[in-house]
Amino acid sequence: MLFREVIGQNEIIQRLINTVEENRISHAQMFLGPEGTGNMALALAYSQYINCQHRVELNEEEYGFNSDSCGECASCKKIQNLSHPDLHFIFPLPAELRKAKKDKNAGELIYKPWRELIKENEGYFGLNELHSKYNLKGKQTLISADDCNEIIHKVSLHAYEGGYKVVIIWMPEKLFYSAAPKILKTLEEPPDKTLFLLVAEQQEEILNTILSRTQIIQIPRLKDNEIYQALISRNHADEKDAEAAAMLSGGSYLRAMKFAGDTSWMQDNLQQFMTMTRLSFELHKKHELQKTQDMFKWVADMNQKGREYQKNFLNYALRLFREATLQSYHTDEMTKMSQPEKEFMDRFHKVINHANILKIAGEFEKAVYAVERNGNGNLIFMDLCFLLNRELRRGHKAMTQK
Ligand SMILES: [Zn+2]
Repeated sequence: MLFREVIGQNEIIQRLINTVEENRISHAQMFLGPEGTGNMALALAYSQYINCQHRVELNEEEYGFNSDSCGECASCKKIQNLSHPDLHFIFPLPAELRKAKKDKNAGELIYKPWRELIKENEGYFGLNELHSKYNLKGKQTLISADDCNEIIHKVSLHAYEGGYKVVIIWMPEKLFYSAAPKILKTLEEPPDKTLFLLVAEQQEEILNTILSRTQIIQIPRLKDNEIYQALISRNHADEKDAEAAAMLSGGSYLRAMKFAGDTSWMQDNLQQFMTMTRLSFELHKKHELQKTQDMFKWVADMNQKGREYQKNFLNYALRLFREATLQSYHTDEMTKMSQPEKEFMDRFHKVINHANILKIAGEFEKAVYAVERNGNGNLIFMDLCFLLNRELRRGHKAMTQK
């Protein structure tokens, strides 16, 4: 992958380029960032750049960084193909596939799907994609000591091509405890011209001993406009769908791709949003036990849906609140909503204004974070309903006083 094919992250790319130009490539680096932000894409592009035989200069003003790999030399071609003999991957698999690594058909069974996984997702994928690629359903995956031994043995030999040997460890969160000592020893005393790139999502799930031996590069979430541009230029969506998908993505290109490919989620989320706001708003009517029970039921249903669904919904809600603010202030900015959303928003926007928007947006953002951290869904959504109850009424009052 070229650096130019990585979405956004220009500052980090320039820093990586500088490590090569200034000859200070740290032998153990961790690309740490939420799913879909490009940690794997960066690791692949960096590996390619380091081993490229004819790096090219770029106009920094145009590209946001000043150099890239050529994409055409023998080394680039092999890395792009994921067939470079000095590029190794360690990644989590379930027990039966790990056992099959020495079998004759291991290439077909293990390495072919892995290469497809990277290519089909343009380098942007997470554990869910791994599970569906290998058809794992709920199976446990991990990185075993044997997985590590195998690769460590390979890199202890000479490089085939004379450049850097690169080991990409995808998801060190899944490192089985007995595998850690092997990795640690190698990270401390790496073979010559060997680079370990750890591609990770959740720092708190990684062993401290591993963290302390790597240079951590924090990969931030992507900006909406970067995702929007990428969706359009890669033909994943038209302008309207790309805008909505980017806003819902929470800075993850992976999530944006999913939204862009399917719009039925919109109807469903809109329905949920309408129910949630209506039930919350109506709560103040005293002596209406039924309303309270309806709200509890909605919260319980939402709690059943699982983390991914909840996160999508919260991001969707944040988008609608933003749209409502735009409408309330009659900004000229074009809103990109579907017809049913517009119809709903015609009335709803009136209760969203200066009196409540900051508070609501802030609390919904916190809720996204809480869901990501495995917070209790019942509590999170209950709190949000009470928040909406207060804030929508405040907004309603502000509107009627105008
Ligand atoms: Zn090249």
